[in-house]
Amino acid sequence: MSRWVLTGLKTGTKTTQYPREQEPRAGVSPGLPITGGAEGRTPEICPTAALNIVEGQIAVDYRRCIHCFRCARSSQSAPLDWQPGYEWAARKADESVLDSVTFGRSLNVLVVDAGDCGSCLSETAQLSGPYYNIHRLGFFITPTPRNADVLLVVGPVTDQMRAALKKAYDAMPTPRRVVAAGVCALSGGIFGPSLATGEGAGDVVPVDVEVPGCPPPPLAILHGLLVAVGRKPPAAMASPNTINNVEATP
Ligand code: SF4
Repeated sequence: MSRWVLTGLKTGTKTTQYPREQEPRAGVSPGLPITGGAEGRTPEICPTAALNIVEGQIAVDYRRCIHCFRCARSSQSAPLDWQPGYEWAARKADESVLDSVTFGRSLNVLVVDAGDCGSCLSETAQLSGPYYNIHRLGFFITPTPRNADVLLVVGPVTDQMRAALKKAYDAMPTPRRVVAAGVCALSGGIFGPSLATGEGAGDVVPVDVEVPGCPPPPLAILHGLLVAVGRKPPAAMASPNTINNVEATP
């Protein structure tokens, strides 16, 4: 019997049932603000300009939202509603391109830290622990691009990491997928574009799946991996800036 199983029996720690069942535990996700009416709401309170008024509604740019909670708690603006889920990953690539490739049940994931602050990497590291345990799904982290099916990029891609990221992508066999996790990898986040970074992973490699969040919780990253290989439906993109995924269906 593995040590993890023994430890689990002794301590009562168990592995999440996701994706077979939704994860009901509180605290697995900070949630996301959702689109709402503009009355009484002030988009200017958002420090990253993630809130805009579109056709009389507050639209949320999930590529820039850093989970500061100002739109939920500020006294200067009526609070926006939040959705508590974690199935946030959306497809960026053309669906027909993604659907044209079938992966087997096993998947090797190469994680590239392209200059992240440490939080997205920390959430990603949880995936191999006993609670999220992605090995039960046939997913494995690999250090070798030549063994990798999926490139998981975190961080805004600093200038010093551009060449390394491109080299890692070029060394991967086809078919391959790119998952960008965290707002820095989607848009540069609070770091870019700037003198030291561009506007995220899409500047350097073709991104297939985007996972918003700052940082995205482990279940959101896991949802991104499942979307990348067609084992879960993506969150629907309502507009280039807005993900309308109050609840993605299992
Ligand atoms: S939680 Fe996101 S959308 Fe709301 S104010 Fe902060 S950055 Fe802006």
